[in-house]
Amino acid sequence: MANTLFDACFGRHAGRTSPFLHLPDGSVLTHAGFLAMAARIANALKSRGLEPGDRLAVQVEKSPEALATYAACVQSGVVFLPLNTGYTGDELGYFIENSGARLVVCDPSKEVALRPLAEGLGAGLDTLGDGGDGSLMTLAADQADTFETVERGPDDLAALLYTSGTTGRSKGAMLTQGNLLSNTQALIETWKFTEADVLLHALPIFHTHGLFVATNLILATGGSMIFLPKFEVEAMLAALPRATTMMGVPTFYTRLLDDPRLSHDLVGHMRLFISGSAPLLAETHKAWEARTGHRILERYGMTETNMNTSNPYEGERRAGTVGFPLSGVELKVTDPETGAELAQGEIGQIEVRGPNVFKGYWKMPEKTAEELREDGFFITGDLGLIDADGYVHIVGRNKDLIISGGYNIYPKEIELFLDEQPGVLESAVIGVPHPDFGETVVGVLVRKPGETPDFDAILEAAKVALARFKHPRKLILTESLPRNTMGKVQKNILRDEHKDLFLPA
Ligand code: ATP
Ligand code: MG
Repeated sequence: MANTLFDACFGRHAGRTSPFLHLPDGSVLTHAGFLAMAARIANALKSRGLEPGDRLAVQVEKSPEALATYAACVQSGVVFLPLNTGYTGDELGYFIENSGARLVVCDPSKEVALRPLAEGLGAGLDTLGDGGDGSLMTLAADQADTFETVERGPDDLAALLYTSGTTGRSKGAMLTQGNLLSNTQALIETWKFTEADVLLHALPIFHTHGLFVATNLILATGGSMIFLPKFEVEAMLAALPRATTMMGVPTFYTRLLDDPRLSHDLVGHMRLFISGSAPLLAETHKAWEARTGHRILERYGMTETNMNTSNPYEGERRAGTVGFPLSGVELKVTDPETGAELAQGEIGQIEVRGPNVFKGYWKMPEKTAEELREDGFFITGDLGLIDADGYVHIVGRNKDLIISGGYNIYPKEIELFLDEQPGVLESAVIGVPHPDFGETVVGVLVRKPGETPDFDAILEAAKVALARFKHPRKLILTESLPRNTMGKVQKNILRDEHKDLFLPA
């Protein structure tokens, strides 16, 4: 039976005995072995009563079995719903209830806490693999190695992936088989992946980046992944000599740069380093090139659309930009007020359209109607511009824009300035209500260990570096910035904390 995504990715290599996963204990799981594992899990899910279209919520640590559960869902038409391993209690309850998950799969260590929650919400619960009775892998062990693929077309749902919840409550993005496949194909074309590739994979697999971008690409081309349970400098340094490519978030790069063993000798043989999910500082870009001879290729994407843009493989990889729209993806910059398209160089909201764009938010028709226009353009919530050469620049999130005395202020510009000041480890700039200006600029700073930033000196330096309306009205020192489980700074929390700073008591 035809199954769009399965046939083009997973199912292509059924007979392939070459490695798919290189595991930390030195063992290898072949493509054929992985597919057999996925088939056994698909049979187990079926025997648990899961049918095409049902949601399977999976909150487990990264493992080959967890990844095979994703493949099993695609093959059997079950909607895969991966959950961040950092979520607990009420948060999890929200995802299970909102998605109407039929079955929840967790690690044995979470079973006691999760069972009453799942069952209270009408879902079943299995652990993934403890060998016990309630374990999906125990059930799978007795199943056949083959599974009759369920027919699925490009418009059928493959996954329900919740956004990271950086700007508010997470939303379930409905991703179709066609969304995932078209994006995989565009990325293979742009990044030139082949079966010879060995991808160093240290990302979590509950997020677009590690799950779809990395895995689908390798499955579709027949290459392999060095599959690390998580990012650790030692393990990365040990694996790099065997890899041809690496995908990471900016902190992977900064943490590797902190280690003197990172060198051209170690990684000179590699063909590609990719970064995304958060802005890569130009400084990191430069330092990486100086140390390794490689220019990091930065790309831009999100839960709702997978990848939108990428710097070129062969052309100039321009620091501070996210490159060009992928093939098939249209991107425009519009006026947030009127929706009219803006001229090149002007900052506005980024909208994208293409086969990668999701079907809408699960059970949120109003939110979907607000952000997914009738003409197919999705309002990403990011602000940016397209420069004279066509490179896309991201300047921040719409919700973080500060409007002070009628001026639009982009926090990122001020953060870049603050981050460079002596004693400052990192910063977050927010808009705080102000009786005269509507909003005004406040900088929240984290100090470098053992150092104390000199606020007066920073405010003096700001007078030289920044236009007057961008000067922080106040600087605040804090121990650490609030981050969500994806590591993204939650400015809504900071805004809330400091909302009364300038208001009359
Ligand atoms: P929520 O939508 O729930 O508030 P979120 O937007 O953080 O959460 P994700 O879909 O995980 O959830 O993140 C996508 C966002 O990450 C993008 O909208 C963009 O703001 C940011 N992002 C991704 N790649 C880049 C990049 N290369 N440069 C700058 N920002 C990036
Ligand atoms: Mg978002």
